[in-house]
Parts: sequence; structure tokens; C-alpha cells
Amino acid sequence: MAERTLRVCALYPDLMNIYADRGNLTVFERRCTWRGLGFELAGAGIGEPIDPDAHDLFYIGGGQDRDQARCARDLATLKRDALHAAAGRGAVVLAVCGGLQLLGEGHEMADERLPGVGLVDLDTRREQGPRLLGNIAIALDLPGGPATLAGFENHAGRTHLGTATAPLGRVLKGNGNNGADGTEGVRGGAHGTVIGTYMHGPLLPKNTAFADWLTATALGIAPGELAPLDDALEAAAHAEAARAAGVCT
Ligand code: GLN
Repeated sequence: MAERTLRVCALYPDLMNIYADRGNLTVFERRCTWRGLGFELAGAGIGEPIDPDAHDLFYIGGGQDRDQARCARDLATLKRDALHAAAGRGAVVLAVCGGLQLLGEGHEMADERLPGVGLVDLDTRREQGPRLLGNIAIALDLPGGPATLAGFENHAGRTHLGTATAPLGRVLKGNGNNGADGTEGVRGGAHGTVIGTYMHGPLLPKNTAFADWLTATALGIAPGELAPLDDALEAAAHAEAARAAGVCT
């Protein structure tokens, strides 16, 4: 039997899965298996309560406005207390794009304001201007984690962090949270384990060191405690991108 098991709960796996964001779950599963770690995947859709202690990592992918609208109230009511309890004990909450927009206070869309789950202080709204669309790279300051992330963004909503709220990273190329203030994503919660980002790709196949940081954090161990895998190509790609952007790795 595996010594440790990463227990993941995917929230709204059918509705919140744009740009193959489900691929992020495959990365967790494969990297656990390659290391001899156990992996368990559960799902929770609309109307299904969640147990805050039964999972190490809660995941929500991106979604179009109409799919977000179907999930937002359920997230902000039925699942709210459990997610706050989970984040409060250091479980990881990972949210991508439409999921990120639901982590905060709310999402002001064209004709409706969706409630957020209030795990972090951020707000999202439509503003004048084009969709924020294209390739994106960000620099991180994450102990034991990668220095850069690369991905793809496509969002109409612009997210603004509260003054005391930390971004996940700083934009090197692309738009990030709102195309104006250079922030990308969010990192908050009592243990810094509530993570949101606009980055698709999907995110984790392009950023396996970040997948490992999330896995280790969810398991309550240091990233260096995970058995190494052969990520030479990935490391070379990131080193080259970081060099081009003038970031120290
Ligand atoms: N519906 C959101 C927006 O356009 C998020 C889209 C997405 O997840 N790519 O702002």
C-alpha cells in the first residue's frame, strides 16, 4: 500500500472544465503514481456537500459565464463552510480562471452579479476593453516552488485584489488579473494554501514543478521530500524562459 495518498476533490468537474483544465488532475494522478504515492479523486457537483477533512486538495477549473452562474450560488452556500474549514486547516484550494473569479467576494458580469465563496479578498468585474487573451508568463516568490509559470489566459472579467491580498505572481508577459496592475492570481488563506490563477494550458502539464509544490503542500511536506522525477526538458524550458525574461532561477 502507498505510504501517502493525495486525496483530491474536483468541484463541478463537468461544468468548470474549460480548455481541458481537467488535465491538471491527470498531472497530479500521474506524478503521484510515478512516485509510488497513492491518489484518490472524488467529485462534487451542484447539490453535493463536501467533507472538509476528506480531501487534501480541492480543485475548481475554469468556466464560461453561464456555467459559473450555475455553480456560484451552490459554492457560496452549500460548500462555503466546508471550504473555509478545509483552507483553515491548510488544505490546498486550487482555482483556475472562472474558478479564481469565484474565490473572492463576487463576479460582476454583464447583467448579473454572482456571489463568491469569500476565501480571499478579491473582486471581479467587467470593464471597458477587450478580452484579456494570449500567452502569459509570471514570476513567483514561492518558497520551495518554481520561479516562473507559463500558460494561456482568456478572460473578460478583470480581477482586483484587496490591498492586503497577495497575488500568486507578477506578470512577465501577458495581462494577468486585470491587465493594469501587474498582478496575477492570488495566494491567500490562513496558511497561504488558497491559490488562484488565470492560467490555462492546462496549467500543470506546463508547470510540473508547481504541481509538485501543490502536491507537497497538500500532503504537509516540503517539496524537496518528494522523490525526484525526470523533468529535465521542463526545467530547461523554464530556465530559458526565465533567462529571456531576466528572472533569476
Ligand atoms: N467566464 C470568465 C471570463 O470570461 C472566465 C472564462 C474562463 O474560465 N476562461 O471572464
